[in-house]
Amino acid sequence: MASYDLIVVGGGLIGLSTAYNAVSPYGGHPVLDGEKVLVLEQDAFFNQRGSTAGASRQFRFQYSEEYMTQLVMAAVPEWAMLQKQTVTELIPNVGCLWFGDPDTPTTEGGIKPAMETMTRLGVPFQRLNCRELEEWYGFRNLPGNYSGFFQPGGGIINVPATLQAMFNIAHNHGVHLKAHHKVLKIESDGKEVTVITDQGTYHGKKLVLTTGAYANTLLEPLGVQINLSIWNMVSAYFRKTRADIDYPTWFAFQKANAANANLYYGFPEADWSHPGYIRVAPDYPYQIIDEPSQRVPPTPEDFAGTSAWVANHMSGLSPEPDFTSSCMVALPAGDQQFILDTLPGYPNIVLFTTGWAAKLVPLLGKICVQLALTGQTAYPIAPFAIPPSDITATGERK
Ligand SMILES: Cc1cc2nc3c(=O)[nH]c(=O)nc-3n(C[C@H](O)[C@H](O)[C@H](O)COP(=O)(O)OP(=O)(O)OC[C@H]3O[C@@H](n4cnc5c(N)ncnc54)[C@H](O)[C@@H]3O)c2cc1C
Repeated sequence: MASYDLIVVGGGLIGLSTAYNAVSPYGGHPVLDGEKVLVLEQDAFFNQRGSTAGASRQFRFQYSEEYMTQLVMAAVPEWAMLQKQTVTELIPNVGCLWFGDPDTPTTEGGIKPAMETMTRLGVPFQRLNCRELEEWYGFRNLPGNYSGFFQPGGGIINVPATLQAMFNIAHNHGVHLKAHHKVLKIESDGKEVTVITDQGTYHGKKLVLTTGAYANTLLEPLGVQINLSIWNMVSAYFRKTRADIDYPTWFAFQKANAANANLYYGFPEADWSHPGYIRVAPDYPYQIIDEPSQRVPPTPEDFAGTSAWVANHMSGLSPEPDFTSSCMVALPAGDQQFILDTLPGYPNIVLFTTGWAAKLVPLLGKICVQLALTGQTAYPIAPFAIPPSDITATGERK
């Protein structure tokens, strides 16, 4: 029976990055023969059921936490390495605009602490007042106290192109990429793993678990339950009514109102997704659930806040969306950004789950492979350790 050097469970952005990094000579770990690497995905690859659904994500350096900005900086050469191996531009560099009430904190941080971090780390940005936000960037009717900054290094991540690039590299190296293989159970004696799927059983030396919001079902017998909540979120595409209008990536920090958290973000026009349209989305969920099976589709009312924001504050866009989508993201219950760690008691199993991780994709896959193959990484991942409270009695750290 075939035994793999590495089995990756989950074929989203992080799973495919792990497979790509496993066969990469630049990973700071032993390079695996692709024939000895297996990726198991319950759905089709490039599916829309996980957190990787949709066409675009924001790439940004600014964070309230210094270690996060440093991690994004460490991801830059990894993106460059991936870019060299594909033709399509993965992150068009359009810059990133943060503006609004400078004292509003969000799950994504805040304007003031982000500026402080960038100042400390020498990341360039330009401060903007309300008048400049309106005159230079096309927003309108902003409250007079709004201010913000433009960070020129930000960009829009082409998600389909990034997935395809990593998939192609893995495939060309012989990695076994198996769609429609749902993993039902993972067993390990600490040295070898047995992976039971609805299509058969596989054996391997190491395993990386990147099942996103679905993580806890497979973790339960391994003695870990991540305290997370799953946000179901919507996104909408508004038709451009003026050819000359475009936006960078942006995020509006605002105080919550009676109806919702009142936070919105958006993108420039992207030629790979609804050209002639601008994507705008609320940064608040229409539904919070404990596990993916509880997910329901959004209703038209779930887009009302976004349409109102566009009508009130954006120039050159039709006020009602023509295309909409939804996506779920798992977020840690505490103040961690995401979870990246080996499982207590199972040094051959690495877990990545939760968080806003698209901007770090090639780096996170590299770290997963380093941890799986060598048990260590030089990258500072202590902030992402599995919290002791998420370790159940059977899975004490050895
Ligand atoms: C609306 C939205 C906006 C976002 N915006 C940003 C942003 O601007 N910037 C940013 O950096 N990040 C952003 N993110 C976060 C980013 O998209 C995620 O961090 C990233 O996509 C996570 O990828 P993943 O591979 O960990 O998870 P997923 O994409 O969910 O992949 C997990 C995969 O595992 C598979 N799977 C699950 N269970 C099993 C099983 N039992 N057996 C086999 N396969 C299984 C699933 O089918 C899925 O394909 C956003 C997320 C959302 C939802």
